[in-house]
Amino acid sequence: MQIDIMTLFPGMCETYLGESIIGRAIKKGALDVRCHNIRDYTLNKQKQTDDAPFGGGMGMVMYCQPVYDCFRAVCEQRGTRPHLIYMSPSGKVLTQQRVKELSEMENICILCGHYEGVDERVLDEIVDEEISIGDYVVTGGEMPALILTDAVARLCPGVLSDEECYTDESHFSGLLEYPQYTRPYIWNDREVPEVLRSGHHANIVKWKKEQALRRTRERRPDMYEQYIKDHPDEKLPD
Ligand code: SAM
Repeated sequence: MQIDIMTLFPGMCETYLGESIIGRAIKKGALDVRCHNIRDYTLNKQKQTDDAPFGGGMGMVMYCQPVYDCFRAVCEQRGTRPHLIYMSPSGKVLTQQRVKELSEMENICILCGHYEGVDERVLDEIVDEEISIGDYVVTGGEMPALILTDAVARLCPGVLSDEECYTDESHFSGLLEYPQYTRPYIWNDREVPEVLRSGHHANIVKWKKEQALRRTRERRPDMYEQYIKDHPDEKLPD
């Protein structure tokens, strides 16, 4: 999969993308992620990429030209027009379902806003979708873009060692994940549930499912209700 990130702060993104699981996946070629500095495309002599908002108000707005030209350069470099996502608190809140759908695309491009945001006209002109990471505001689109990139990347073939790593996880099947334990068996007088050490595969699977259902019912009753609607035979006793 190819992912392009358009940002005023490529270094912020490159630092994260060079490390750990995603960094290894990029190094071995399972993913192709490129960061593009929007500032490289400004025609302004001072390399400015923002201007004061019409109508007054606080802060600065990223103006159209560098954003538009940066996207055109991405399309040219890739030889295709990627699906363009603008990270925005006004977008649709990201879900695991949308992450999965995006991971099935071959090319996505992510636009990071900064300051007060981006001139609406260039968004209308080129953006296919706006995505929010939640109902709060952060300083810039870089962290939201990295969250999206990371969530999408880990579903791509060759990034995680085994598909089971994510099919079992919270949100994938509409449930939260069961609790996890590792050694030692007893820590601060707290024991690992006996069944996990029994070696009885069927009982372990049953325990994990029941724990996932219980945890979801307790912590996310909205998700539990939806899950039980789709899987009525799995309803826990009241
Ligand atoms: N003035 C904007 C508003 O009130 O909606 C907020 C601008 S914010 C300070 C700067 C940039 O951070 C945005 O353009 C966007 O790219 C990014 N951003 C902030 N919060 C976000 C969120 N919850 N989800 C996705 N992107 C976000």
